[in-house]
Amino acid sequence: MNSKVHQGHKARKRFGQNFLHDDYTIDQIVNAIHPTDDYTMVEIGPGLGALTGPVCDRIQRLNVVELDRDLAARLETHPFLKDKLNIHQADAMKFDFAGLCEPGKKLKIFGNLPYNISTQLMFHLFEFSALVADMHFMLQKEVVNRLAAGPGSKAYGRLSVMAQYYCEVVPVLEVGPEAFKPAPKVDSAVVRLLPYETPPHPVKNMKDLSRVTADAFGQRRKTIRNSLSHLFNADEITALGLEPSARPEQLTLAQYATLANALTQKKE
Ligand code: SAM
Repeated sequence: MNSKVHQGHKARKRFGQNFLHDDYTIDQIVNAIHPTDDYTMVEIGPGLGALTGPVCDRIQRLNVVELDRDLAARLETHPFLKDKLNIHQADAMKFDFAGLCEPGKKLKIFGNLPYNISTQLMFHLFEFSALVADMHFMLQKEVVNRLAAGPGSKAYGRLSVMAQYYCEVVPVLEVGPEAFKPAPKVDSAVVRLLPYETPPHPVKNMKDLSRVTADAFGQRRKTIRNSLSHLFNADEITALGLEPSARPEQLTLAQYATLANALTQKKE
């Protein structure tokens, strides 16, 4: 039975609520997270506490960011968890994760994320990369494939370039729909994101990397000469060592960084 009511709570679709209930999967995820009080630990979307409980077995303090008021309230009165949790009833997409930082500790962020907002949430989280030791997220498998994809593959796109700019991306585990209640219609996967101390291909202005990737991948079928014609002419693209007839999925992160820095320089 794929009941929408789990532990007395009716799953809310608009909050992307698919609760983990498979102990083996939960164990594997918690082992991958490797919770420790050496870091400021943060969970996004604790829900009914499937990951929260086993993580709190290993540490003293956990920050949780939960949008659903009812679920946040349940955690506030939870007999075992309430004393270990700092509960932030808030939207993770607008949340200031920097505000959680403690002196000398980096953030370790994890969560079984609401799939309907996961891509947008990733972009918000990348802004805090410098403060983060690692992140572990359960996502739609297709999104993990996109995060990890390299040039030339169908899954390679703006999300791949932006994620790999900030982080090493390591797929950890695949999870079938049966591990959740209610079961999602898609396969899932856990990914580990390890922010670089220094990005391997630094750009001067992230807004320009964001812009060139948005404009190039916004028109995937066009050559970069056409999709970026409002930013560069063909001669300028060639002078940067790029082929104007290349398609966006053929360019590496290093080449996007080159384009972004050239755009920044043009504006100076
Ligand atoms: N961690 C629980 C588990 O594994 O069973 C719940 C995971 S469920 C897929 C996603 C959780 O994120 C829900 O608890 C949902 O209410 C919460 N959520 C949805 N949108 C959110 C947002 N914008 N900010 C914070 N939490 C959110």
